[in-house]
Amino acid sequence: MPLFGSPRPTPSAPPPGRHGLSVPLALVLLFLVVSGPEARAQAAPASASASTLQEIRVATRVLPPMVIERDGALTGFSIELMDEIARRLDLRPTYAAAPDVRGLLDDVRRGGVALGISAVSITSARESEFDFSQPMLNAGLQIMTRGDPSEMGGHPLSDLLRLLISWTSLAWLGIGALLVLLPAHLVWWLERRHPGGLVPTDRYLPGIFHALYWAAGTLVTQAESAPRSAVARVVAVFWMFTGVVFVALYTAQLTATLTVARIEGGIHGPNDLPGKRVAVTAGSTAAEAVRQFQAQPLEVRRIEEAFEALQRRAVDAIVFDAPVLMHHAAHEGKGRVQLVGEPFRKEDYGIVFPRGSPLRSRVNVALLAMREDGTYQRIHERWFAAR
Ligand code: GLU
Repeated sequence: MPLFGSPRPTPSAPPPGRHGLSVPLALVLLFLVVSGPEARAQAAPASASASTLQEIRVATRVLPPMVIERDGALTGFSIELMDEIARRLDLRPTYAAAPDVRGLLDDVRRGGVALGISAVSITSARESEFDFSQPMLNAGLQIMTRGDPSEMGGHPLSDLLRLLISWTSLAWLGIGALLVLLPAHLVWWLERRHPGGLVPTDRYLPGIFHALYWAAGTLVTQAESAPRSAVARVVAVFWMFTGVVFVALYTAQLTATLTVARIEGGIHGPNDLPGKRVAVTAGSTAAEAVRQFQAQPLEVRRIEEAFEALQRRAVDAIVFDAPVLMHHAAHEGKGRVQLVGEPFRKEDYGIVFPRGSPLRSRVNVALLAMREDGTYQRIHERWFAAR
């Protein structure tokens, strides 16, 4: 399990409200010089240096943009939030990253960590086993599909090509080719001795080609020319009727194929999930939801594996937490993925504690204070502002 120390320097974007230790230290020293013993007692906690801060072990899980691993260090919304809470409580967090949310909860359950933070949804089952902080972010489950109209029901031109080069069309072509053999031979045989008839020669070759061309043409379009012999004309009329039925059946088949593709192809909401292959992360609320909707789940550990599976068409969709999907859609997945509708199930993220943890109320106070003084909003904007 990778361990990550904290606090870490964030050169490009230092978290709001965090200052180097030198300024408060200097102020404290100034205080100590100019003030009496009471003031000294009050100033003492603020003077705690990084080494004297109480360390807390924090279970987490890499899941951009909540937790991002960059150059061997962790950052992201949840990490900045936790660092700021810890700073306010004079704690020094050390992060241990679990491979999935189940692992994170296991760590909290075993008690080797003081708390867990990443993208942990507050659910009734988890609430009955753990303690949660106040909600730290509104999330919820959303559906993501590939950005391009990948199946039929997309662009008319691609639909046309797909229909032309489909097995259905090939099968009908084969049936047509077999069907024309019979009337072509009949007509060739009946017409071969008729001067000015359909077949200009009484030799099989090339006479049969003329007859075949006539039979094929009559099957799918209007008859261009009529045979001379009376019996051949009867055959021709019968053949024209066959042509009408043939074209009608072929048209019906194509229409049915397109309609079914339009109904089945697109995923427009959770009700289209049954039977679909859907990527989710192991042990997540999304995995449960997908099972409820009778989809076929593909469970992965890292969410990036789900994004890859979607692109190589191993799955039809991803069901996952809206903040994570939105982040991907706006960055690496831009132009290649699309979000389907709004989140279909609301969830809140919380910080998870072992049952009865005394730390929870202190963390809640810090979290609520951060909401009240604008710190929460600043961190939120940094990670979720539309770019
Ligand atoms: N919100 C999800 C859950 O708590 C996150 C799952 C994950 O980390 O993969 O189940």
